[in-house]
Amino acid sequence: MGTYITVKIADSDKPLPARKAAAQKAFAEIERIEDLLSSFKEDSVISKINNSGTEEIFLDEEVFNILSRAKYFSEASSGAFDMTVMPLLELWGFHSKKYRVPAAEEIEAALKKVGSDKIVLDSRRRSIRFLAPGMKIDLGGIAKGYASDRAIGVLRNCGIHNALAACAGDIRVMGRKSAKEKWSIGIQDSRKRGMITDQLKLEDSSVSTSGSYERFFEAGGKRYSHIIDPRTGWPVDNDLLSVTIIAQDSVTSDTLATAVFVLGRAKGLELLEKFPSVQARVVSK
Ligand code: FAD
Ligand code: MG
Repeated sequence: MGTYITVKIADSDKPLPARKAAAQKAFAEIERIEDLLSSFKEDSVISKINNSGTEEIFLDEEVFNILSRAKYFSEASSGAFDMTVMPLLELWGFHSKKYRVPAAEEIEAALKKVGSDKIVLDSRRRSIRFLAPGMKIDLGGIAKGYASDRAIGVLRNCGIHNALAACAGDIRVMGRKSAKEKWSIGIQDSRKRGMITDQLKLEDSSVSTSGSYERFFEAGGKRYSHIIDPRTGWPVDNDLLSVTIIAQDSVTSDTLATAVFVLGRAKGLELLEKFPSVQARVVSK
């Protein structure tokens, strides 16, 4: 997934080989999810959907459910989070890493292919269909959260009670680090790499951070973030540096961190009123 992944198991009563076997199963599950959901792999189901034009594609239950959750968060965030940003990611060179600032007309043309309202997810037929030709999806804003959730699910099935799964900034914890201590998650300083500004103490929850300080490119003295505002077609440039969300599960924290980052401080915090159990920490510029 283009990043580092950590799995930690804290159950000290389990023998080391059992803990190692469980960790290996969690990593295998994350690899399975990458193969399934990557828009970088030609044989993934996402690539199949992206090459479908406007033809109906039938899906298995797992993929249908993830796409439904992605669409739900698009609707909840009024399009701030939107998996259909792929044509814009390609236009700005975020996918190929051949970055460039496109012309206004190009952005306008790409925006015609963006919007989850132009996706038909038919739950009876368990299928997806794009309503506009050239539409493509990218799950970069949700699949790492899903992978962290699934890794913890696999560990639980192995009889583990206390563990952490971190797909870069999407971290799910189960149980505690020890009888005395909760899991401690350091939040990186958005301005100073490697510095920690906050320590969160968590059990049985998930934390995700989105920001412009990790993945971006620079052109003409300006910084362009990999998170794109699907409403304007431009990389996000608002009053925020980063957003950290704490939620029950990682899909929720992953998508909401991206959505709030796109919306900016005022609208972002307004969105979170729809999610009373969610906590947020926003760093403004
Ligand atoms: P988040 O804020 O969680 O998400 C931002 C990412 O979501 C963007 O990078 C983009 O992909 C997408 N996005 C942008 N704007 C929006 C928006 N408004 N709404 C919804 N989504 C948006 N990277 C590689 O370099 N090579 C790879 O082969 C590769 N494979 C990957 C496979 C998978 C399954 C996944 C999940 C990621 C992969 N990545 C790969 C990384 C990916 O391209 C993103 O850079 C990464 O997911 C960003 O995560 P984040 O937590 O930093 O940002
Ligand atoms: Mg995210």
